[in-house]
Amino acid sequence: MSPREKANTPTSGSSTSHLSTAECPLQTGRVPEYDEEVRDEDDDRGRVEENDEEEEEEEDEKSSDEGFMGMTPLLQAHHAMEKMEEFVHKVWEGRWRVIPHDVLPDWLKDNDFLLHGHRPPMPSFRACFRSIFRIHTETGNIWTHLLGCLFFLCLGLMYMFRPNMSFVAPVQEKVVIGMFFLGAILCLSFSWLFHTVYCHSEGVSRVFSKLDYSGIAFLIMGSFVPWLYYSFYCSPQPCFIYLLVVCTLGLAAITVSQCDFFATPQYRGVRAGVFVGLGLSGVVPTLHFVISEGLIKATTIGQMGWLLLMATLYITGACLYAARIPERFFPGKCDIWFHSHQLFHILVVAGAFVHFHGVSNLQELRYTVGAGCAEQGTL
Ligand SMILES: [Zn+2]
Repeated sequence: MSPREKANTPTSGSSTSHLSTAECPLQTGRVPEYDEEVRDEDDDRGRVEENDEEEEEEEDEKSSDEGFMGMTPLLQAHHAMEKMEEFVHKVWEGRWRVIPHDVLPDWLKDNDFLLHGHRPPMPSFRACFRSIFRIHTETGNIWTHLLGCLFFLCLGLMYMFRPNMSFVAPVQEKVVIGMFFLGAILCLSFSWLFHTVYCHSEGVSRVFSKLDYSGIAFLIMGSFVPWLYYSFYCSPQPCFIYLLVVCTLGLAAITVSQCDFFATPQYRGVRAGVFVGLGLSGVVPTLHFVISEGLIKATTIGQMGWLLLMATLYITGACLYAARIPERFFPGKCDIWFHSHQLFHILVVAGAFVHFHGVSNLQELRYTVGAGCAEQGTL
């Protein structure tokens, strides 16, 4: 049975929630999962209270029952709903358990090859952020980009505080390289935030998924800025034109990613294609450089080797993401670690670091050569 078929079969078995989506009287799509311990604790507490305030409780129960019975059916239903809501909230704020893919509400269903270990919908942002420290399908996704974000933040600050004497044009170069760091930090922070809060609600998930996709476009645009600046240092006109083209394409990608359909599982391949296409727009300036400078200069001075490695890392990541490899071949075996999205995240951080390394080599070469442009068209 395929995971998709499995998702359509009614839930049976011990691992499903105590209150499944179908059973939930609130019809909110929230699926509470809680430990037996919580119920045991509640039972214990109940017993202690019973001993201490038995009479008082009996009276309360009696009056509450009388009050409840005296209500109209509509009021009774409302009262029951309120009680249930209070209970669900209490359970949620306490403990929750990971749930299988097939009991997730539709808006949380993304990858049906990840069979178990999903977070249920969370009642608050606080609960979402606390879930960072729990093990579930998103733990790896969150931490890969959270740590990546901190890494680029530190690297960026170190770079910005480098002595001005290490640059030919300190302010200009720091702004240009700063654009790369800004793109990387925005991309990684939107990403870990999205993976943290997307189980909050459908609306929150939609807003943050749009930010997540926009972040990828920011990273790509930011990566182009220092590379074009150093590669076409002595040819400002093509540099400006290429920059304008990539920014236009980047803004177009951001615009497309604002459409609700773009985030749906059916458009996984389209999403990967849009961002790979945006990155591959760099082929044109690369060919321009190779034709005007020659292949040897391109691979030595132009840092083409690093750029090629970066492109390979990004494209591999995008392919794994689109094809959902390796979980496609081992459904249920990569639920927590090493599923495609996690590998894609790691490859994005690695690709961004390789790009930074290439750009910092370009910067050093420019420093060695000096600010002049003696030979027309040379780096
Ligand atoms: Zn992601």
